[in-house]
Amino acid sequence: MPLTINRNVFITCAVTGSGSTQDKSPHVPRSPKAIADSAIDAAKAGAAIVHCHVRNPETGAPSRDPKLYREMTEYIRNADVDCVLNLTAGMGGDMVFGGVENPLPLNEAGSDMAGASERMAHVAECLPEICSLDCGTMNFAEADYVMTNTPGMLRAMGQMMTDLGVKPEIEAFDTGHLWFAKQLVNEGILHSPALIQLCMGVPWGAPDDLNTFMAMVNNVPADWDWSAFSLGRNEMPYVAASVLAGGNVRVGLEDNLFLDKGVLATNAQLVEKAVRMIEGLGAKVIGPDEVRKRLHLTKRSPQKHDEAMIAARTEEIDFSKPIRTLARAIPSDWTDYNEHMNEARYLQAFSEATDRFMEIVGCDKDYIADGNSYFTAETHIRHLDEVNTGARVYVETQCLSGEGKKLHVFNSLCHEDGGLLATGEHLLIHVNLETRRSSLPTRQVAEKLKMVAALHAKLPRSENIGRYIGVPR
Ligand SMILES: [Zn+2]
Repeated sequence: MPLTINRNVFITCAVTGSGSTQDKSPHVPRSPKAIADSAIDAAKAGAAIVHCHVRNPETGAPSRDPKLYREMTEYIRNADVDCVLNLTAGMGGDMVFGGVENPLPLNEAGSDMAGASERMAHVAECLPEICSLDCGTMNFAEADYVMTNTPGMLRAMGQMMTDLGVKPEIEAFDTGHLWFAKQLVNEGILHSPALIQLCMGVPWGAPDDLNTFMAMVNNVPADWDWSAFSLGRNEMPYVAASVLAGGNVRVGLEDNLFLDKGVLATNAQLVEKAVRMIEGLGAKVIGPDEVRKRLHLTKRSPQKHDEAMIAARTEEIDFSKPIRTLARAIPSDWTDYNEHMNEARYLQAFSEATDRFMEIVGCDKDYIADGNSYFTAETHIRHLDEVNTGARVYVETQCLSGEGKKLHVFNSLCHEDGGLLATGEHLLIHVNLETRRSSLPTRQVAEKLKMVAALHAKLPRSENIGRYIGVPR
């Protein structure tokens, strides 16, 4: 294949990895805010894409906590500079054996093995444009550590990425990983053209000599987009090598801590240096909009996505339909030993939905501060299907009646595709918070409820309404 220089290059900045680098340089960011700030500086310096992991803010240890990812994502999404967000999905496949004579049990301190949904939970929560897919299992640097990504795991995670509309950045650390990536595309699990990152010189994957590099490059399908990097002092030579061979580049503190011999770098400085090198080669550095166009990416922000799902403003609600009162991804701490959402969380979801409904009809913070509220008197939940970590769900609320002191609502919890997952029926009683006795709502709330109940009375009635335990189907 004749190779031509890439004249329009995008830079990915790998801001902070999962390596134990946090104590080796003060520039390795730890907290969600610090990681976001470093990513934003890198974007200002010319990185179109920022590839991020998160760490425990106190210890600097790598973390898979969706809350930390969400916090970091929101900082980046709200920044005054635009960039394409790429989150790692590489964690949760870490095995450290007990030693050469006693490989089992595993060394618990270094091992972190999670299921596919749990490994993807933060991706479902944050909806970045890109997430990484480490396309194989390999010995990784230290003595008894193995990075595991079995074919079964990769098929499952790859399918989740495709279903979520998040583009996988296939990370190929060796020739076989690239081979399997093509298999995933052939099976239809990943869409073509794919995006691949050639990770060179990571011990003990593909070494970063040019013969091995070109063997990898020559095996990337012609219509795929690709990028490459190497580690440490070979980070910058690989900026040149990749551009010359037709690819894009990656730099950042995940791969290298130094700007020069003995001089610690910031992410922005590494990006600035890469920009100078690329421009010195006569090529142009492209920005996030061009990258989105080229890679067919969709920019979404988790906050806006959820708000759009639940109608941002009460005035915009169409009361002739059931009201969308909740939309979210299932976090990993909502699932139990059966590996699906536990019963308490169903009640939580329904309770949040009913709270939102109360707010919509005027029983909001101010109303409660004035001494009025609704208390739940009865609940009936029906479990109809399973749901796992990372899945996106929503609740729609139908008002069955709202006369006098009583409020009767029916909530339907659904999968993103509309399939019914559970129903939750609540009867609430209006209460005066001072006397703690039942009371009539204010005229304003009563009128709004009457209007909604009248419109909802025209909706079809679910066969699940009014059920009690043991009613035959
Ligand atoms: Zn990474």
